[in-house]
Amino acid sequence: VTRLTSISVDLDSLEHYCLIQGLSVDLLDARARDLVGAVAVPRIMALCEQLACPVTLFVVTSDLVQGASLPEALRAASRAGAELASHSHSHDYTLSRWAVEAVKADLEKAHRLLTDLTGQAPLGFRAPGYTLSAALLEAVVAQGYRYDSSAFPATPYYLAKASVMAALQLIGRPSKAILDTPQVLLAPTRPYHPALDAPYRKGQAPVIELPVSVTPRARVPVIGTLVTTAPWPLAQRAVQALADEPFVNFELHAIDFLDQADGIPPQLAAQQRDVRVPWAEKCRRLSWTFEELKRGREVLTLAQAASKVQVT
Ligand SMILES: [Zn+2]
Repeated sequence: VTRLTSISVDLDSLEHYCLIQGLSVDLLDARARDLVGAVAVPRIMALCEQLACPVTLFVVTSDLVQGASLPEALRAASRAGAELASHSHSHDYTLSRWAVEAVKADLEKAHRLLTDLTGQAPLGFRAPGYTLSAALLEAVVAQGYRYDSSAFPATPYYLAKASVMAALQLIGRPSKAILDTPQVLLAPTRPYHPALDAPYRKGQAPVIELPVSVTPRARVPVIGTLVTTAPWPLAQRAVQALADEPFVNFELHAIDFLDQADGIPPQLAAQQRDVRVPWAEKCRRLSWTFEELKRGREVLTLAQAASKVQVT
């Protein structure tokens, strides 16, 4: 059986980072609002083409009106073979608490805008903030999507951004974290059909859940932010810990392809420390990571992987 890798990028605009950090979106000038479409998407596509890695881009469709360059950048990416998938219309972090009809309307709007953009209907969804609910899963199923890729079965201890570096130092001795958080260890880390009323458990839903990759035992999240910001030998160890996984779902954000010099306001950079790593350094680390994740594996978009992965 061929091992598979998928690489995906959530294209959250800087506005969403301001909201997370409690900063006013008025900090963002026209250039900052346009960075994802004008700078990040072209860098993503250049790197993926250079390394012959197909990529899936998760689009927040309300951002299509924000960044002047985004619609055309996405059409170009789609023509070049990128998969465009839905990251919701609103990117509201409370989406998982909305009533089912409101969630369905949001996903329907995202679906329509993406289909209008490229002429191709999206096949998959990722929830804002990685949080699923029964209502959200019902809306994903109602769209007829092939896959959902929202589950992030990382040990919660590791999820707080500030603790990622400390967490990495625990890779070698994960037992303490495991004892602290028995419930998260029940969430599957490999592709599965979720239960309609409990998306983090296995069941009968007619959609495949493709969880974001975490290391097998300690469940350290192996994502773009870790690769670009953690001490390099530890980041390398985390990526290499995925070597025996049948399917790797490596998740990044557009901001992993940007740095402060691109025009990110200093107030945001002060809180979002990953943007202080220069793009040249991020690019070097990401290139190494993509090559590592390609080794002995077939690299596919998430939609392609959903048709091919072994589902447990
Ligand atoms: Zn997002």
